[in-house]
Amino acid sequence: TYVVTENCIMCKYTDCVEVCPVDCFYEGENTLVIHPDECIDCGVCEPECPADAIRPDTEPGMETWVEFNRKYAELW
Ligand code: SF4
Repeated sequence: TYVVTENCIMCKYTDCVEVCPVDCFYEGENTLVIHPDECIDCGVCEPECPADAIRPDTEPGMETWVEFNRKYAELW
């Protein structure tokens, strides 16, 4: 699973949304978020993000962002 992180805050680009094959991006309060149960881990969105905000959830220190993405995605 990939997660949206802090560089997404106030970002106006939606390149990630356009390339995601399963449409698993949702709007959070001030970022987009990725629904962790819908993301198929394809990695296509990561290089498309102009803000470098999308990271694999396996990177160190991602625990907070994993929770953040789930919290807002599940509101939908
Ligand atoms: Fe969508 Fe693939 Fe990015 Fe997951 S890794 S959010 S499925 S583009």
